[in-house]
Amino acid sequence: MADTRLVVGDITTAEVDAIVNAANERMLGGGGVDGAIHRAAGPDLLAECRKVPAVNGIRCPTGEARITGAGNLPARYVIHTVGPVYHQVSHPAALLASAYRNSLQLALDNACRSIAFPAISCGVFGYPLEAAAKVALETCAARDYESLNIVFYLFDETTYSAWHRSLSTR
Ligand code: ADP
Repeated sequence: MADTRLVVGDITTAEVDAIVNAANERMLGGGGVDGAIHRAAGPDLLAECRKVPAVNGIRCPTGEARITGAGNLPARYVIHTVGPVYHQVSHPAALLASAYRNSLQLALDNACRSIAFPAISCGVFGYPLEAAAKVALETCAARDYESLNIVFYLFDETTYSAWHRSLSTR
């Protein structure tokens, strides 16, 4: 199984090859972790996001992922992914798993050895913490990703506890 660690903290400080942004489909910034990442990275990140091809304003459909440089962040890359809005889709777990898988695959494709995730969809997108933790940790445990060091940056104790419980019962 991939080496998976949990920390309580701000993902913009993560010293890893790639940090994952819980973005929205337009990929031009937003609130929550997206806003924090853009503020810490500086304007180069937004400029790179604008260069990602858009179809009807959509740069990254839900469940997919896109990669850019990381501006002033310690990481080399930002991998932008879009998790499901929990109450708006009929199969949230499949879309959340797909957001994690596509992010992990992009990290491998770009020769990353370490990747940091936030709790995708667990803020304004309303995904229940226990259910999200199970999907996140199960997806990351797949053999395909065992060469990656994976760290979850969980922003508060409640989210950390949900991940910790899920990891200890695996
Ligand atoms: P989503 O729209 O996918 O729900 P949010 O940004 O609203 O994304 O929330 C996702 C998770 O990221 C939430 O658990 C939120 O508390 C957390 N979060 C917010 N800021 C940060 C940060 N700087 N570092 C890590 N996690 C963060």
